[in-house]
Amino acid sequence: MPHALAYGAQSATTPLARLTIERREPGPHDVRIDIVNCGVCHSDLHTARGEWAGTKYPSVPGHEIVGLVSAVGAQVSKFKVGDRVGVGCMVDSCRECESCREGLEQYCEKGNIGTYNAPDKHLGGHTFGGYSTQIVVDENYVLRLADNLPFDAAAPLLCAGITLWSPLRHWQAGPGKKVGVVGLGGLGHMGVKLARALGARVVMFTTSPGKAADAERLGAHEVVVSTDKAQMAAHRRSFDLIVNTVSATHELDDYMALLKRDGTQVLLGVPPTPYPPINVGRMIGTRLAIAASTIGGIEETQEMLDFCAEHGIVSDIEVIPMAKINEAYERMLKGDVKYRFVIDMATLKAEGAAA
Ligand code: NAP
Ligand code: ZN
Ligand code: ZN
Repeated sequence: MPHALAYGAQSATTPLARLTIERREPGPHDVRIDIVNCGVCHSDLHTARGEWAGTKYPSVPGHEIVGLVSAVGAQVSKFKVGDRVGVGCMVDSCRECESCREGLEQYCEKGNIGTYNAPDKHLGGHTFGGYSTQIVVDENYVLRLADNLPFDAAAPLLCAGITLWSPLRHWQAGPGKKVGVVGLGGLGHMGVKLARALGARVVMFTTSPGKAADAERLGAHEVVVSTDKAQMAAHRRSFDLIVNTVSATHELDDYMALLKRDGTQVLLGVPPTPYPPINVGRMIGTRLAIAASTIGGIEETQEMLDFCAEHGIVSDIEVIPMAKINEAYERMLKGDVKYRFVIDMATLKAEGAAA
């Protein structure tokens, strides 16, 4: 069985360290990808540290994967060796249920197969993600990267990008709509860029006053420091849509108050602890909705990548060597990242060669 180098956690309390994992030989429908970069999502941290129930160890995170196809199975028709490709948060789904047939594999009724921490039907055990030199994936769950998308800055599109694109499209962010984006991190900064490119009026909500100038540079028409009650009150009942990317629990009511009649707040962040209760009286008073959304289907992920290639949209990144991943997690927790860490996988190959 072929092996690959990876970084993973052996338990919720141990730092990530180098390990060797198995990757299957490409089957008839599989492509093998030599990973060039992998983005660092807050979900990686939640998972590696066991903040959500059910982490399987060793845990090898990473679902913002980009690289080059290095082998293809006999029946692969969409990709050839040398193609520039990406893999996001899923590597399989049932392909038969209503959601899969509608191209919404992320909502597969049998559960989509996550790129990491999901049952591995090929090798047994669980799937290992993109903090690794290689991955083998069914061609139907592989995305194509246009030539003008740089590997490193495009990597975060595979999770952060699609996680914002899908709800922005579903709730029709566009001209004439006022859209709020809460939390200026990996997801939030893609939300600002995409909502702006879709033609909406965009307001960024941040707890970090120091990020205000950046938010405008990224495309926000206005920035609100959410801890400032007067700034918040100035936007009462004015939003069509608010997409909330915050990774920790907080008062959702503060944002419900900013929605106009028929407005929707979409939850994208998945804090490990519950949110405080929501004021239903306010919700019925203006027919408000609270919703949630996860990543996006394969077809819409390709649509988002092509939109980004056409509009020159990529992530703002800080490239790190694999060995700095634990430090990067600590900095992410402090909000000290502008605005996505991306691992240079050549550094992991070099570690392996030196070992
Ligand atoms: P991130 O880069 O760490 O950004 C999160 C942002 O939330 C921070 O930059 C900060 O923004 C804000 N924040 C953090 N703690 C806060 C607190 N206590 N109160 C208020 N604001 C706070 O994380 P990310 O990678 O964007 O991920 C965000 C969340 O989305 C995570 O929970 C992740 O698991 C989840 N996620 C969900 C999906 C999905 O499919 N739905 C996909 C990917 C990730 P400011 O400094 O601007 O306030
Ligand atoms: Zn993610
Ligand atoms: Zn399905």
